[in-house]
Amino acid sequence: MASIRFLGAAGTVTGSRFLVESRGRCVLVDAGLFQGLKELRLRNWAPFPVDPASIDAVVLTHAHIDHAGALPLLVRAGFRGPAFCTPATLDLARLLLPDSARLQEEEARYANAKGYSKHAPHALPLYGEADAAAAIARLVPVPYRRRVEVAPGFTLTYSRAGHILGSASVALEVARPGGAPARLLVSGDLGRYGAPILPDPEPPPPADVLLVESTYGDRSHPAEPAADALAREVNAAVRRGGALIVPAFAVGRIQELLFLLRQLEQSHRIPTLPVFVDSPMAVDATAIHLAHRDDHDREMEALLAHGIEPLRPARLAFTRSPEQSKAVNRVQGPCVILSASGMATGGRVLHHLARRLPDERTTVLLVGYQAAGTRGWSLQNAARTLRIHGQDVAVRATVVTLTNFSAHGDRGEVARWLDGFAAAPGRVFCVHGEPPALEAHARAIRARGWNGEVARDLEAVDLGG
Ligand SMILES: [Zn+2]
Repeated sequence: MASIRFLGAAGTVTGSRFLVESRGRCVLVDAGLFQGLKELRLRNWAPFPVDPASIDAVVLTHAHIDHAGALPLLVRAGFRGPAFCTPATLDLARLLLPDSARLQEEEARYANAKGYSKHAPHALPLYGEADAAAAIARLVPVPYRRRVEVAPGFTLTYSRAGHILGSASVALEVARPGGAPARLLVSGDLGRYGAPILPDPEPPPPADVLLVESTYGDRSHPAEPAADALAREVNAAVRRGGALIVPAFAVGRIQELLFLLRQLEQSHRIPTLPVFVDSPMAVDATAIHLAHRDDHDREMEALLAHGIEPLRPARLAFTRSPEQSKAVNRVQGPCVILSASGMATGGRVLHHLARRLPDERTTVLLVGYQAAGTRGWSLQNAARTLRIHGQDVAVRATVVTLTNFSAHGDRGEVARWLDGFAAAPGRVFCVHGEPPALEAHARAIRARGWNGEVARDLEAVDLGG
């Protein structure tokens, strides 16, 4: 019998892990960490539901930590098979997995210093840099559209998901005793149509069973294009006469901002300003975005063909060393500072906020989700002071939130992707969403006359045979 079991991202948005079993073999699609509330994060510490040594192969949809960040854990627990991913995902995982390990190590050190872990002063990190390196050594790149046997009886084909560089939907043909192979499709995180840099999500291949992401299953993004919103806020920041600080994720979001800033400058919708990218990871991620031409949309390629660097506003400066980063502090007048982390929980953006939040000419632009309790969330909720590096910093800057930026398709965009099926999949399971979004999405799928259900945590579904 062939089956698929939901080991995470069922009833929640993180911890993407789906175990596919047939004829005594098993393949794990995604190996994500649980993130967010403590109750979820504790699941990262629980023993894996099956012995990792018994897993024949892992197949990753993309490099985000909630999809790939548990691979170091699996390897440490005995997984010895290949972990397949697209070529760009491999390069991004080389950045993101060691970074995740460093964050885990930092958290353990902090818990020990403050004594808040019950294991203090001997709390251990979830995993360390050596585990991340061991996980990276298991990665095997597979280009889009190439059929590859990943384990006996399991054939993988990747298609573009348009979510981040290298992101893919996973089509698995699973051999069944006494029947045609079962066709399983895992959408992975689906991106936007018409977004910069990346091609649109590809129409899906036929499927007997579909797992579809549902992050925005009950919502639509603002109709205003991100470029228009960004132009408005850059010009307002220039009128205030100070810096525009954008705390942003180093991989994906900062490159999108660079693309749009260059485009807006070129069309004279914003003045040419000094733009600083102050995040070593963002500098590396930008180079990776430029190198993977197979992941570019036509606009990106046309620009490159005309000798235009798509991710380079005219007065761009990358700062790598701490000295270069500190020099940005001395810049007077309007400028743009793109720096991580996206929720201002750490990273170099803290120095810039500490220096410039008390200045009423400063603008802080929040372009990503801000989880409750983070500094980004406090800013969004009109905090008058912000605790940074042990100091209370007065907030006199203007704080603006834009919801126009998202790497996830909204309900209309996911519906457009579903329209691409020539025939309805036999069964559709909604995953990767909060409960209201999942229920709304399943209802929308049933309204098509399809079999739409919400995936239940740890449930196994028969693939027949
Ligand atoms: Zn993602």
